[in-house]
Amino acid sequence: MAARRRKRRMDAVEHDLSDEQWAAVQAAWGGCAYCGATDRPLQRDCVLPISRGGRYTLDNIAPACGPCNASKCNDEVTGWLRRKRYDERAFLERHVAVRALLVTPPVAVSRGGADAAGEPPVLA
Ligand SMILES: [Zn+2]
Repeated sequence: MAARRRKRRMDAVEHDLSDEQWAAVQAAWGGCAYCGATDRPLQRDCVLPISRGGRYTLDNIAPACGPCNASKCNDEVTGWLRRKRYDERAFLERHVAVRALLVTPPVAVSRGGADAAGEPPVLA
């Protein structure tokens, strides 16, 4: 739902990732998102390629080393991972975790105070 609401604005903005966000993405992954390389410069890779409807947004960008980025190109990510014999499951789990870490969940419309009934308590 949030993605659809955001889409109208994003249609006008091709690059929606700030330098700070990109730095945070790289720090969260700690290397190439696909092969794990840490000794190469990392490039912004769209997990869902632009040609398949993806965008340069925080939840769709992963750091990729040059060889991975060039190889993956416009491929669908899971199929590509399988062909490369990379750990598809590990990548997807990591991607979910990084997204949860970086992407701020949509804030509820009402700001009625601390009596948000139904929300589970946040455990530290
Ligand atoms: Zn790589």
